Amino acid sequence: MGQSVRMPLRVAAELSHGVCFGTPWGISLDGLLASVLWHRRKAAAAGRGEVLTYDPLAMPEDLELPLARCDLGQPWHWMCTFAHTVPATPHPEPRMRSSRTDHADLQRLAPSVPSTVSDSRGHYRKRLIPAVATVTPTVTWRAVGDPEKITELLAEVTEIGKYRTSGEGRVTAWTIEPAPGDDVWSAGHEHHPGVLGRSVPMPCVAGHPDIAHGGRSRTAVRAPYAHPSRHAIAAYLPVPDEAQR
Ligand SMILES: [Zn+2]
Repeated sequence: MGQSVRMPLRVAAELSHGVCFGTPWGISLDGLLASVLWHRRKAAAAGRGEVLTYDPLAMPEDLELPLARCDLGQPWHWMCTFAHTVPATPHPEPRMRSSRTDHADLQRLAPSVPSTVSDSRGHYRKRLIPAVATVTPTVTWRAVGDPEKITELLAEVTEIGKYRTSGEGRVTAWTIEPAPGDDVWSAGHEHHPGVLGRSVPMPCVAGHPDIAHGGRSRTAVRAPYAHPSRHAIAAYLPVPDEAQR
């Protein structure tokens, strides 16, 4: 990247009616930004008549995100937090979704399908799936990066979290504001001073023995978070938002 601007930032998404996350903490800002770049790449490839696919067995390339990097530990990570949903209602809200096996689709997938597939019994029965939503008017992140480039990327993000196609996580507005008074290390690691806001390799918090965290585990520290190459063996986990209410 040519000129790079890197300053402490606060990012906020206004939500219309809450958001579902699959983890006890929110989604990472680097993952969101990388998803926008990846979709743009896919669209550009489609324009050339090519199909771009993600190969989980290959070593993923790091997309050039408008964020600073933290090289204190291995693997390195982007200087940004996971989504913070405090304040929110004290309890998450269960929202039921129903799922029904598409019988016509089964016919297309399998060479032989029994004459009746029961909706009420067996492996392919109709089911109700609980989706746990955090009801909060705003989700916030902290980061160290380029506010203009981040604003431009996030403009394409209209919903966040899980079950987006069911209407969860709808974003009505984004605000990306420079926070020149914020400490740079803190903006890349903490929800607010003293509270770890992302997964980090051990050396990141070596100078902060009193930081509140969510325990230690093998976990990923940068996008793509599902890939084993992004895992740190004994990473510190963020404090779950639930524990802060
Ligand atoms: Zn770090």
